[in-house]
This record gives sequence, structure tokens and C-alpha cells, in this order.
Amino acid sequence: MEFDVVIAGGGFAGAHAARALVKALGREEATRRVALVAERNVLVFHPMLAEVAGASLSPADVVNPLRHYCRGVTVLQGAVRAVDLAARTLTVDGGRFTRDQTIGFRHLAITLGSITDLSRVPGMAEHGWPLKSVADALRLRAAVINRMEEANLVADERVRARLLTFVVVGGGYTGVEVAGQIHDLLHEAKRFYTRLRDEHIRVALVHGHKQLLAEIGPKLGDYTARVLRERGIELYLETRVAEATASRVVLADGRAIETHTIISTIGNAPSPVVLDVARQLGLETERGRLPTEPTLRVKGQRELWAAGDCAATPWNDRGEVKTAPPTAQLAQRAGTQLGANLARVLRAEAEGAGAAEIDARLRPFTHRYLGQLASIGARQAVAEVLGFHFRGFFAWWMWRTIYLAKLPGVMRRLRVTIDWTFEAIFRRDISVVLPPPDETMRAIHLEPGEPMARRGEPVRAVGYVRRGRLEARAEDGSAAEIAEGQVVDQTWADAEGRWRADLVATESSDLTLFRGRALELFTGELRLAPRGAR
Ligand SMILES: Cc1cc2nc3c(=O)[nH]c(=O)nc-3n(C[C@H](O)[C@H](O)[C@H](O)COP(=O)(O)OP(=O)(O)OC[C@H]3O[C@@H](n4cnc5c(N)ncnc54)[C@H](O)[C@@H]3O)c2cc1C
Repeated sequence: MEFDVVIAGGGFAGAHAARALVKALGREEATRRVALVAERNVLVFHPMLAEVAGASLSPADVVNPLRHYCRGVTVLQGAVRAVDLAARTLTVDGGRFTRDQTIGFRHLAITLGSITDLSRVPGMAEHGWPLKSVADALRLRAAVINRMEEANLVADERVRARLLTFVVVGGGYTGVEVAGQIHDLLHEAKRFYTRLRDEHIRVALVHGHKQLLAEIGPKLGDYTARVLRERGIELYLETRVAEATASRVVLADGRAIETHTIISTIGNAPSPVVLDVARQLGLETERGRLPTEPTLRVKGQRELWAAGDCAATPWNDRGEVKTAPPTAQLAQRAGTQLGANLARVLRAEAEGAGAAEIDARLRPFTHRYLGQLASIGARQAVAEVLGFHFRGFFAWWMWRTIYLAKLPGVMRRLRVTIDWTFEAIFRRDISVVLPPPDETMRAIHLEPGEPMARRGEPVRAVGYVRRGRLEARAEDGSAAEIAEGQVVDQTWADAEGRWRADLVATESSDLTLFRGRALELFTGELRLAPRGAR
């Protein structure tokens, strides 16, 4: 399978590049010559994911099928595993039955965005909930509601307090918006939980810098902090998270917040595919982004292009030339420009134009910055539009109006209008429709003193110590060490399938737990305890 143009990545930049090509070439030619390779067959409207997590919007509202939105190009669903620049091929993993598909290209446009890497904070990858996809938003929504359900059931006050504490890490757009949404969801839902009406629900936001929403300026950042505090959201500014475990967040200054729910909005990292392309070219990246020329061609390349979060593109912002920031607004505009330039190249090539003539036809990336908006919950928002600052209800109304207009597709806009109208009149939906996760294997992080399990508890999992050290403390006072590379298995269980020792970390430790079917296979005989949601 070979195409003149392959666009890798179906996000804001990729989808808009594809649309620009269809517009310029027409559907018939675009279908033959252009392929869009996308991991999922939908374009996700990220700015509204926090609303899905907070049950203001349904998941279908924030996605648009690429086959509809980019009609005309050949859409191929699959994850790009490797790019071979010398052979001009992509290796694409389409799923269980189509692992290694090869797609040839003449021009390649890289629009792969970024990935989330939570591994820089110990325990965050194991215990932090990311918010990058619709599935993340739905899992987070289900987790928040399930915490309320468990808190409503449990008698132990300390456990209940932990269940009712929600920690958001990161005070950029996503962190602020998700903190506001979750706070609204919890406080609206609380009155339906008869045993929680008088309980204090904590939402805390931990941010490494002094200023929230650094992108939008200090005035609106201060205003945001004030509004969040007034609504009871605890702010930990200029504070970094040092460690995350199943039951707490440890801050760099030594304080700890006991919680079972950590939402991580930090950890944006470059796609490994992008880093590998830079390596093949011997090109230095700008913080993991491929440097491009203003035409969106990768620096020094004629048939390699890049746009969006994975590209460092020079941008003339009102006379000041800087690197385009990683935002949806700029990715969309850059994608359109990339598609239009590629169409110019294809046309010029067909006319037999030489390199200098082709170059002369290309247009540089330009974009008039319109501003930024962030909704902060409780029908409040902050906005900087065309240099003017807005805040409060009016800014929130603007936020909704502008994002509604930006949503791809008329049908989505109608659905969102209906959902927002329903949300204003009716209650948020607190039904959990996701099945409990069937996690047969799971990674956990323990701090010194934290237990993997307590004596007398039923054996629900066995563990492999990947890093660190545990101690098994039996009732008779004897203790045995379980070191790195060893397993915490049924030798520590009694005949009834209960632990006969406290299994406690003596140093910072990472374990892999085997549960459900994996536990059965591991032990061969132990009976399973009922599975529950995470
Ligand atoms: C929760 C959240 C909220 C946000 N809110 C805002 C906001 O309010 N305002 C704003 O301007 N920006 C916001 N952003 C940032 C904005 O979404 C990004 O800047 C924008 O999506 C960048 O577009 P892109 O096309 O470069 O990347 P993306 O839109 O991320 O698209 C990349 C695409 O490539 C796909 N992909 C990745 N790797 C592979 C692979 N190996 N093979 C195949 N496909 C692959 C991904 O699945 C994705 O579809 C938000 C981001 C998030 C996560």
C-alpha cells in the first residue's frame, strides 16, 4: 500500500491537514493519493474532556468520526510503530490480527501530538489518573462516582475521608478545569448519598508554580485562584508532588494528603516515534518537538512535514517571532496550512515545476492569536480574547459559545447544545455504566511503612517486587524480608486463603500485582475474592 501523502496522526493538526488536501484536490484525487493514519477513528475535542469527566457532557459530544470529518482521504486506523525514512515506509499496528502493516509514502506529514509520561514522579504511573482520551475521562468519572458509593458504605471514618479526598496535580488548563468540574459533580451528587450529606468532600489542586494558568497571565491566574479557594478547593501552589501511592500523595515539602484518587494532568512528553525520526535525521529537537520551517516542512527536508504539538514551528505573533505553543487553536491552523502547502507541492510537481519554483509557491504559517479561555466550574471562567480580559459568568458564557462554534461538525454542535441545556435544567448523570475493570495485573507503588496487605485479610492478589523491599511480620513477632525480584505469594497465606502476616514496605517499593485470572494461574489453587473497581 503506497500513497503520495501519508498523514500520521488524526488529531487537530492531522485532521485539518487532511481536510485542506481534500478541499484543494477534490475527493476523488484525495482518496487515491492521501492516507490519514490514526490510532483511533475519531477526532477528539480535548478542551471539553474535563466536562465529560464531570458528567456535564456525554462522550459522543466530544468526538467526531474521522471518516465523516475528513471524508475524501483514505483513513487507516492503526498505531504507527516505526518510520523508516530511508525506505519511506511506516510500520502500522492495526490490532490483534493486523500487527505489522507497511505503508509506503512519498511525502510524510507527522502530526502525532504528544504522549503522557507519568513515570517521572514515583508512583504516579501506577496511581495517577491521566486525562488525555475519552476513555480516560469516562474512567475518571466512574472512579469519582465509585468513591462516593464506597464512602457511603464504609463505617471507618479515616477510610471515608480518604475516599472523599480528590487530588488534582497540575494547575494548567486541564488541571484547573478538571478540578472545577469534579468539584461541581461531587457537590451536586452529594445530596443523593444519604450517608454523605454532612460529610466534608475535599478537592485539592497541587501546582508546582506560583501562578495558576500561567498561559493566560497573572491577573486572571490570581482571579482563578481566588474563585477556586472561595468555592472550597484547596490550593497547594509552588508545591511539587514527590510521590504517589494507593492511599496518599506525598508533597516535596514533606506534607502528605491522604487520598484514593489522584488525577494527573502533568507529564506531557514527546512521542517516541517523533524522537526516532529526529534521531534518523540527526536533528536536534526543541524539547521533543521537530523543528520546522515556516512552511511546515521539517527543517532541511523537502518531503517531510510536521505540525501541531509535535512540531516546533516559527510563529509571528504580532511582530514577535516565537515557537508556536502547543494549543488546539495553533495545531488546527498549522494543520490547515500544512495541507494547503502539500497540495501546492503536488500540483507543482504535476506541472513539472523545479525545486525553486515549488518553494516559491509555498506559504508560511501565519495565525492571528485570538486568545485563550478556561472554564473553572460553577459557571465561571476566565478569558483573554483579542487582548481583553474577561472573567466570571460572562467569560463562562463566552467559553461555551466559542467552544460550541469551534466543535467540529454541525451534529456535534446540536448535541452539545442539547446536553448543556439539559444540564442547566436537570441533574448530572451519576450512573456508572462502565463495567468494573478486569485488571488481572496491576502495578502499585508503596512508601516505607505502607502495607501491601494486612494479616487476616483475604488474599486477593500476589505480588512481584520489582524494586524495593518488603517485610512479612507474622503474629508471633517473627519477620522475614521479601527483597527485589522476589514474590509475595501464597506461602504467606493460611489454609483459608488469608494472609498470616502484615506485608509492609520497608523502603520505597514498586510491585506488580497478579489478580483475578492471573492470580488463579499463578497459584493454581487459591480461591478468588470478588473483583472490585479500582
Ligand atoms: C484534557 C486536555 C485539555 C486541553 N484543553 C485545551 C484548551 O482548552 N485549549 C487549547 O488550545 N488546547 C487544549 N489542549 C491541548 C490541545 O488539545 C492540543 O494542543 C492539540 O490537541 C494538539 O493537536 P495535535 O494535532 O498536535 O495533537 P493531538 O490532537 O493530540 O493529535 C495527535 C493524534 O495522533 C494520534 N497518535 C499519537 N501517537 C500515534 C501513533 N503512534 N500512531 C497513530 N496515531 C497516533 C493520537 O491518538 C491523536 O489522535 C488540551 C489538551 C488536553 C489533553
